[in-house]
Amino acid sequence: MLAAELRLHDVRVLVLEKETEPVSFARIVGLHIRSIELMAMRGLLERMLERGRRRPAGAYFAAIDKPAPEGLDSAHAYLLGIPQPVIVHLLEEHAIERGAQVRRGCALAGLQQDDDGVTVELAGGEQLRSRYLVGCDGGRSTVRKLLGVGFPGEPSRTATLMGEMEVGVPQEEIAARVAAVRETDRRFSIGPAGVGVYRVIVPGAAVGDRGQPPTIEDFQQQLRTIAGTDFGVHSPRWLSRFGDATRLAERYRVGRTLLAGDAAHIHPPIGGQGLNLGVQDAVNLGWKLAAQIRGWAPETLLDTYQAERHPVAEDVLDNTRAQMELLSTEPGPRAVRRLLTELMDFDEVNRYLLEKITAIGIRYDFGAGPDLLGRRLPDIGVKQGHLYGLLHRGRGLLLDRTERLTVGGWADRVDYLGDPTAALDVPCLLLRPDGHVAWIGDDQQGLDEHLSRWFGNPN
Ligand SMILES: Cc1cc2nc3c(=O)[nH]c(=O)nc-3n(C[C@H](O)[C@H](O)[C@H](O)COP(=O)(O)OP(=O)(O)OC[C@H]3O[C@@H](n4cnc5c(N)ncnc54)[C@H](O)[C@@H]3O)c2cc1C
Repeated sequence: MLAAELRLHDVRVLVLEKETEPVSFARIVGLHIRSIELMAMRGLLERMLERGRRRPAGAYFAAIDKPAPEGLDSAHAYLLGIPQPVIVHLLEEHAIERGAQVRRGCALAGLQQDDDGVTVELAGGEQLRSRYLVGCDGGRSTVRKLLGVGFPGEPSRTATLMGEMEVGVPQEEIAARVAAVRETDRRFSIGPAGVGVYRVIVPGAAVGDRGQPPTIEDFQQQLRTIAGTDFGVHSPRWLSRFGDATRLAERYRVGRTLLAGDAAHIHPPIGGQGLNLGVQDAVNLGWKLAAQIRGWAPETLLDTYQAERHPVAEDVLDNTRAQMELLSTEPGPRAVRRLLTELMDFDEVNRYLLEKITAIGIRYDFGAGPDLLGRRLPDIGVKQGHLYGLLHRGRGLLLDRTERLTVGGWADRVDYLGDPTAALDVPCLLLRPDGHVAWIGDDQQGLDEHLSRWFGNPN
């Protein structure tokens, strides 16, 4: 995602990936509303929809069985279920189409930086030089470790086994047993995942050796412990294990090297937020780093990446901590779960939690101003169709109902749309390339100040 964002601004990008082949195990992930909106903003949504399945966004918090609230402020108010390898493939294809270079089988092993750039060393000894480096290399990030950036938080306390396999008993028998166990243990599930194949998720006994993949015997044993039967599981397609470690990088930037995605934050998968958070990091960072490289970035622009995204990750870590507690089988957390289940009948509570999990409630701190300032603008209808259709190129956009203002010397970075739509109830609004509202007003002087703040000096 970041590679494609940088390419929108003609930055030369090289992606180094240590694996020679894409990972095949089909972790199904959900793209939440904000990520779906970002895909629409970059013209990627059609291909995602072709390969995914839309679902109502219910049972989104700690698997509490509640529907999403009605009338959400989004043209894309659903959950898109789509296997992670498909997302990775589509994003890679998109980045390559835009001109990014991807080199597989290249593991970064060392890095050094100076005032002009970064030199990285690959595992084979080859050295490469670039102006900036972004470590998007996952929770065990080599880049983060080489930078010496702390990753404080909590280690894994529980392990969960997950895999796809065949079963030896009828579906009805499985469904009845699963329903009975889930009365008390929500971390357990078995469901169809294709012809004759079931996806099994079962709490692991102890944290175990995460370097080793689990075996089918591990699954059989845990199923017997948790459900009283192993359902005759056999013939696994793939088996994996995940933990609930929760950690956040102390800094997102050291000199010319930055961190994004799981390299910057890890948390339990409850609520399906990790990949979403990383995609959103990338869209926040892309245009800022591009501006820095193209030479028009205001001095502090690149540092707003950490200022804006670190608190968002902090909040996601906290909501996953809360959700994990709510899955506990202990009497106290179960009582809190019952209480929250009742509270979620209040529309405002339900809406607040959904906006948190789907990231449409995020408001960056751009200073004092109307509530819309710092928030993302939904995909409203405009004369030319949909607003997000005008953001494919990753540029700023001025929506001007007064038709009196101008983007003047910033026209090479910011587009102008006069008389956009009656649906907009403010006179003028400046959007950043990530779709967040950077300014609201009706005077040229105020606009120019904010164009300078976000887009540097005019031409
Ligand atoms: C069971 C489970 C379910 C999940 N469900 C969801 C969900 O529904 N929704 C959601 O949003 N998230 C979900 N997640 C989280 C999601 O999978 C991660 O947040 C996401 O994969 C992070 O993406 P990333 O690109 O930052 O890191 P990764 O996916 O870890 O990718 C890092 C890449 O860097 C490469 N790499 C590592 N080291 C080097 C090196 N030294 N040199 C070169 N390349 C290197 C790796 O090979 C890898 O390809 C789930 C996670 C789990 C475990």
